[in-house]
Amino acid sequence: MNLVEMLDRQARKFAAKEALRAQGYTVTFAELKDIAERMAAVLQAQGIGPGDTVALMSQNTPDFVFAFFGAQKAGAAVVPVNHKLAPPEVDYILNHSNARIFLFDASLASVAEALSSSVPMVSMDAAVPNRPFWRDLVSAAPNFTPVSVEDEATAEILYTSGTTGKPKGCVLTHRSVVMAAITGALALKMDENDRLLMAMPIWHSSPLNNWFLGAFYVGATTILLREYHPLHFLQTVQQERCTVYFGAPVSYLLPLQMIPNFDDFDLSSMRAWIYGGGPIAPETVRLLQERYKSDRFYQVYGMTEAGPTGTMLPPEAHALKAGSIGNKSLPGTDLVVMKSETEQAGPGEAGEIWLKADSMMRGYLNDPEATQKAFYNGWYRTGDVARIDDDGYLFIVDRLKDMIITGGENVYSKEVEDALAEHPHVAQAAVIGTAHPDWGETVTAIIVPAKGTTPTAADLTAFLQTRLAKYKIPRIYHFVDALPHTPTGKVMKYKLREMFSLRKENSCSNG
Ligand code: ATP
Ligand code: MG
Repeated sequence: MNLVEMLDRQARKFAAKEALRAQGYTVTFAELKDIAERMAAVLQAQGIGPGDTVALMSQNTPDFVFAFFGAQKAGAAVVPVNHKLAPPEVDYILNHSNARIFLFDASLASVAEALSSSVPMVSMDAAVPNRPFWRDLVSAAPNFTPVSVEDEATAEILYTSGTTGKPKGCVLTHRSVVMAAITGALALKMDENDRLLMAMPIWHSSPLNNWFLGAFYVGATTILLREYHPLHFLQTVQQERCTVYFGAPVSYLLPLQMIPNFDDFDLSSMRAWIYGGGPIAPETVRLLQERYKSDRFYQVYGMTEAGPTGTMLPPEAHALKAGSIGNKSLPGTDLVVMKSETEQAGPGEAGEIWLKADSMMRGYLNDPEATQKAFYNGWYRTGDVARIDDDGYLFIVDRLKDMIITGGENVYSKEVEDALAEHPHVAQAAVIGTAHPDWGETVTAIIVPAKGTTPTAADLTAFLQTRLAKYKIPRIYHFVDALPHTPTGKVMKYKLREMFSLRKENSCSNG
């Protein structure tokens, strides 16, 4: 099974059923296939075919879906590009992936204009005039030449978020992507009656492969919100009677903070509220359940490399295990928690998660060394540390790269951050290790104070004394207005380490 066969099958099977709803338009499964073939013809006219890569930068529009499937129909691989990246970062991806063409959504023309890459750039409006262009495309005579696509051909090159360094290009085959779709559909038991709300960037591995393609695989309808907005998010769930949503934790919190009449929205159609992609405090999970008046929350854990399938905490486990990522891996995957390269961690212990997945990448593009380092005996080493509780549930404690070793003791930055976040005057906290002549590293906290408050190092230290062992309590505090985030909202600690490792001014040491 590959994406082209999947598209053809769904077009026959669900022909007149709505595949997409967006911006007041609907697109049926059959139309989607027709338009994808027209897009493929546009690409073929540019000389693009098997072995080529098509870079695609778009918000959540039908154009993205047409171009995505169009490239697959032409036998090319898709490199989705995050439109929030700075121009040199986009240039890096275009060059690194050896893109043959760069398609962008017309609303992002200013981003495209700022690039210095010599890759031919085509606005999706210019490629196919007369918006909404798909109506015209369907009626135009197709001149598409079918291409045979191998299951092992590259379907996507997905770049990681760049939380720990430069984004890496994960090479996913058709087989990997279809397996990720099936896993998503199975995990949620999706069927053709589901209505998936896509408000997170669709080009990310989990929205794209698990949820959008998972929904597509079962003939469900996807409602595209061009971009996330707290009010539109609530309105769309209510108006479209959505049933499934996946979003970063912050996308659940913003409506609570910004929409005063949050409680007036009817969200009762929702049967699956999925969150994940980054750490979340158990208190936050409990807050969401209470405010969304729902016991239908799912936590997912994964990474771009795995396509991104990893684990899931189902709703029924939330009452006792809030904050856990689940007790086993999803269908089509397997995991172990390793204390060392040879020893598995048992209940009560922590170790690195190693993962196998049918949807796993083939490797990092043009980086055999990083690929070799990432795998051990066929297992992908996630770099994430989890603790196993007595019932076998996994709790992410940190990234290996973020773990601090101070005076020979391991300190998990996330544990300290969670404790700091409980202080009413802390809006956000990030904890890093900074160089120390005697202890190797010292625990350093970077704090964004809550609006209108001025917490001090002494306040926070006193607060932590009853919550954490002494060696975990930060010795250095920095107070800042904001933390550097990836476009997906993850704190870039390597930037904080660069900023604060040598700089001692403005710091308040609590001795
Ligand atoms: P890079 O690899 O470029 O440094 P990244 O790892 O943030 O960036 P992604 O592949 O988008 O890029 O994110 C995967 C990582 O996100 C995981 O390895 C894990 O650290 C974190 N993560 C994902 N889901 C969860 C979750 N539910 N809870 C905690 N952390 C999570
Ligand atoms: Mg990563």
